[in-house]
Amino acid sequence: MSEDFYDVLGVSRDASEEEIKQAYRQKATEYHPDVSDAEDAEEKFKQVKKAKEVLTDEEKRSAYDRMGHEQFEQAEKRGGVGGGGPGGAGGMGGDPFGGMGGGAGGMGGLGDIFEEFFGGAGGRGRGGPRPGKDLRTDLDIDLQEAHDGVTKQFSVARPTRCDDCGGSGHPEDADVETCPQCDGRGQVTQVQQTPLGRVQQTGACPRCDGEGELYSEDCGTCSGSGITREETTLTVDVPAGIQDGQTLRMDGEGAPGEPGARDGDLLIEVRVEGDDRFERDGADLHLTEPVSFPQAVFGDTVQLETLDGSVEFEVPAGTQSGETFRLKGKGMPRLRRRGNGDLYVNVQVVTPEDLNTEQREALEAFAEAGGEEIDVSEGFFEKIKNSL
Ligand SMILES: [Zn+2]
Ligand SMILES: [Zn+2]
Repeated sequence: MSEDFYDVLGVSRDASEEEIKQAYRQKATEYHPDVSDAEDAEEKFKQVKKAKEVLTDEEKRSAYDRMGHEQFEQAEKRGGVGGGGPGGAGGMGGDPFGGMGGGAGGMGGLGDIFEEFFGGAGGRGRGGPRPGKDLRTDLDIDLQEAHDGVTKQFSVARPTRCDDCGGSGHPEDADVETCPQCDGRGQVTQVQQTPLGRVQQTGACPRCDGEGELYSEDCGTCSGSGITREETTLTVDVPAGIQDGQTLRMDGEGAPGEPGARDGDLLIEVRVEGDDRFERDGADLHLTEPVSFPQAVFGDTVQLETLDGSVEFEVPAGTQSGETFRLKGKGMPRLRRRGNGDLYVNVQVVTPEDLNTEQREALEAFAEAGGEEIDVSEGFFEKIKNSL
């Protein structure tokens, strides 16, 4: 069920890279599995991500345009992209597809294209560039913003590739020697005695950080790590209806990958602050509304401030304290779906505390009159209504 990448993103075939990225951001937020309730969200999200990865890469895009969707996908499979799909994460598995691009040899021209595209990313095995890590951050919004959806600016301190050394960690003219601890392999094997027996562990060489080479000089800016921390301001669209604790993903805004590998994503955990008036239950909202005794007895129309603005709320005559009324569709929007939840208004009748003489007399008369004896035609209720 694969679809044309342009259709997946909903852009025209001559869309600019910026348009493609923007459409991607929109769709990615829409389908992100952490956010969407739709059953096929994960599948859709993958499609969208893939479409963006191909269409924002100049070479891949021109190949895609030239070949068409079917051929492209087939060629991609044969080209040995690796199990991780686009993005090259599959390269971590250790089995290199070989510098020559496995399986591409017999394909003639096609092979060359795909070696160019994918050979580098998927093919270097454990020695290959490591993709950047995903980073996490929190974002606080209030209930009104969760109701309306909001575009938020926030800043995040994230590792950034060091400008001064291009991420290599050493000045360009530094002298190089083969790491004596690992003989240039970049990996060392350690045998440890543990209560469970001997454990053999293979890991990156600590002396050269897995590079296999030592440099005479470290970059002064990043002390050789290739990475500096930088405060960055980002903007994220928070969709209407988001729930507390849901996560948004910003593609490629995480930690930078090593040169040639993809950057990590930024995961934004949205915190919806509690509200003084409304209590939220999924897409429904609950609200307690105080009304006076006469309002409960005779009924009234009150202006109710909802998250959708002010609405008229009919308190029916004879309302009991604690009675709950449902205002359909006045709750929170349902994330990624049509329609809103409902607003439940819990009416609380406020018992008057300070009565003036007239009010006291009216209520005493009311009490004396008893239940069924009241004759409404005498204007008894009117009397109470006017006096309270
Ligand atoms: Zn080493
Ligand atoms: Zn540096």
